[in-house]
Amino acid sequence: MIILLHLDAGPAERAAVRAALQKLGLEVEEARLGERTAFWVEGADLPPESVARLPGVEKVVPLGGRAPLVESTRVPGGRPVRVGGACFGGGQVAVIAGPCTVEEPAALREVARFVAQAGAAALRGGVFKVRTSPHNYQGGGASALRDLAAAAHETGLPFFTELSDPRQVAEVADVADGLQIGARHMQNFPLLIEAARAGKPLLLKRHMSADVDEWLLAVEYVLKAGNEQVILCERGLRSAEKHVRYLLDIGVVPWLKQRIGLPVIVDPSHSAGDWRLVGPLARAAVAAGADGLIIEVHHRPETTRCDAQQALPFADFARLMHDVRALAALDGRGLAGAQPSTPPPLQRAAGA
Ligand code: PEP
Ligand code: MN
Repeated sequence: MIILLHLDAGPAERAAVRAALQKLGLEVEEARLGERTAFWVEGADLPPESVARLPGVEKVVPLGGRAPLVESTRVPGGRPVRVGGACFGGGQVAVIAGPCTVEEPAALREVARFVAQAGAAALRGGVFKVRTSPHNYQGGGASALRDLAAAAHETGLPFFTELSDPRQVAEVADVADGLQIGARHMQNFPLLIEAARAGKPLLLKRHMSADVDEWLLAVEYVLKAGNEQVILCERGLRSAEKHVRYLLDIGVVPWLKQRIGLPVIVDPSHSAGDWRLVGPLARAAVAAGADGLIIEVHHRPETTRCDAQQALPFADFARLMHDVRALAALDGRGLAGAQPSTPPPLQRAAGA
């Protein structure tokens, strides 16, 4: 079992719990779980209620569960994740927006300014791109990372960027507010552990072929490495359907929200693969209770070297933010980190 201590449990309480467990002849392993101390007790045949009564103990989680640490996040109010000034899972809808990939700095700044003014809570941008084909653009690397940090700084938005290799962790974690682990790396366990140890919030996308248990076990790796700041992101699954790029699993949003306390967001851009489907999918995600969205936006989508067909033009993003605000209000939520804005004119293309 895992014995989680209260956040404010001091050294004396820690020592007392450890001693009580050892007195029962148990092997005790201590670990940090976010800000809290946890004790791992393997193979113990103890009634969890008796351990739960020890002073300083918040919760006892049986190891029999598939992902006990993830299950332990289900507490009243959940476990919101703060990324810079943005809060995910705190009862508001937080929108991450920006280009698929960081290209020209002036264009990036234009996108960053626009999404900030439209009410986004955080900026996104890829610099170490993970591409299916080695012949496709692989991202601007270190200099693009500097441009992204500068654009984020200028707008006051925190930013997320993806990493794909444990050797990138130190460099990215030094400047990024949130580390994105992409779908293709969901089970890259050395990367998950190294990224977790950097102590920054992690945005963990679901692999396009992963079932929920596999996804939650990937989250479990991050929690076990001592980082409880995980945002889960549904981005669509491989399926028999060919009219959308990936089939968005909307049902997983309420399913997870009823079982775990970590924030769950949705990426309508990569699942749709078509900018005309992004708005409807994003609205469905918010209506299903998602804590946020991550959306690709570009000032001139036709010019970008990566995912041009799914990038939302400015007017459509502004319109979507207006819709998201209205939908969130239906269940008493607001936009996290957003400035109030007036509804922009609708300029959707025919059929959108
Ligand atoms: C991305 O967000 O840029 C990305 C590559 O997404 P995914 O890992 O979901 O394919
Ligand atoms: Mn993309």
